[in-house]
Amino acid sequence: MSQTRDIFEDAIQRLDDAFKYANIESEALEILKHPKIIIQVSIPVRMDDGTLKIFEGYRVRHNDTRGPGKGGIRFHHQVNLSEVKALAFWMTCKCAVVGIPFGGAKGGVIVNPKELSKLELERLSRGFIRQIADFIGPEIDIPAPDVYTNAMIMGWMMDEYSKIARRRTPAVITGKPIPLGGSLGRDDATGRGAYYCLKELEVKRNWNPGEIKVAVQGFGNAGQHVARLLHEDGYKIVAVSDSKGGIYNSSGFDIPSLIKTKNESKQLKAVYCHGSVCEAITADILKNEELLELDIDVLIPAALENQITKKNADKIRANVVVEVANGPTTSEADRILKDKKILVIPDILANAGGVTVSYFEWVQNKTGYYWQIDEVNTKLQKIMSTEFNAVYSFMTENNIDMRTAAYAHSLSRIGQGIQSLGTKSYFTDE
Ligand code: GLU
Repeated sequence: MSQTRDIFEDAIQRLDDAFKYANIESEALEILKHPKIIIQVSIPVRMDDGTLKIFEGYRVRHNDTRGPGKGGIRFHHQVNLSEVKALAFWMTCKCAVVGIPFGGAKGGVIVNPKELSKLELERLSRGFIRQIADFIGPEIDIPAPDVYTNAMIMGWMMDEYSKIARRRTPAVITGKPIPLGGSLGRDDATGRGAYYCLKELEVKRNWNPGEIKVAVQGFGNAGQHVARLLHEDGYKIVAVSDSKGGIYNSSGFDIPSLIKTKNESKQLKAVYCHGSVCEAITADILKNEELLELDIDVLIPAALENQITKKNADKIRANVVVEVANGPTTSEADRILKDKKILVIPDILANAGGVTVSYFEWVQNKTGYYWQIDEVNTKLQKIMSTEFNAVYSFMTENNIDMRTAAYAHSLSRIGQGIQSLGTKSYFTDE
């Protein structure tokens, strides 16, 4: 990850671009440039060999005008405060883009979870919740999974919080295992939300899926599901990568086979599986950077931030970039992609499916009434399609890029919230 620019400063710069198109007063905009609460904690964890190790973690609540803070917790060795602030800011905008009643928050712990045993991971997860318990809650701030955290970790965290609160509190966290109050459809919701955006674009561009070549950078939860859903509709997924590198085949991969081997062996392999028997197929080996520069139609960055920068933006050949990761494109790269007339479906819209189904999970936890999968997916599709089309129309009407349109759309909603408590123009009758 390039650390040349402060990622939070880079992120909030987008607000200034969107400001003139949004219905928001400058004082409300100023509020959004400053996170509301920043917590830094040290988490002591007893390791399996008996030693004590201290991990550092953060929780940032960026803004809670529209509802409690909402956003994931990531476990990654490169986590830093500026990144968590940027991620929390994106959550504020993301929840507003899709119109769900939450503000934005994010958490992170500096750790390489692959180096921990299962017991150490559980102790770290519970320890983090003990440190931030006073700052979260179903009406305060509601965490969820993010990079390298999963449903089981959310279950441990909910259990720990419930012990502290001395009452079962499923609505404190989303993305939980189904038997502990998770929602059906939360596991594939991020990928599915991006897929629903692409289905709307498919109609607008009159695409024949069989002719559309797609590359997916990052084959974790979100990347796998968007690839699977597009593959089921006949799109050609010609390249896929994980943190170790990628594979390319011009005729497209059988995505269920790749998912099966990746999840069983933790390795991305070019294979075709008949039942449980998998055979190797021909594929070129790619570096992660090479995948981004392929001659394809749709590029889906679904890994980490700062992947498309001023260094490689000029080499991107896709016509459409769908940001399933948070913050994969820097603001400098954005301008280059815009000049190249590449349509970027921005992260705060393209990956909002995850938090939307998190909202459904929170609603189900609070009412104690659980929905069928069809109900979850139908409601998700309705929100994603409506908001995609609203942002798309705003973009065309104002002749701006889709990111600026998405920020303007979300800023107007956040602005309405802030302004309804009164701003200078109300109090001074100006
Ligand atoms: N970590 C996910 C995101 O960045 C999900 C957040 C949530 O469900 O609260 O959108």
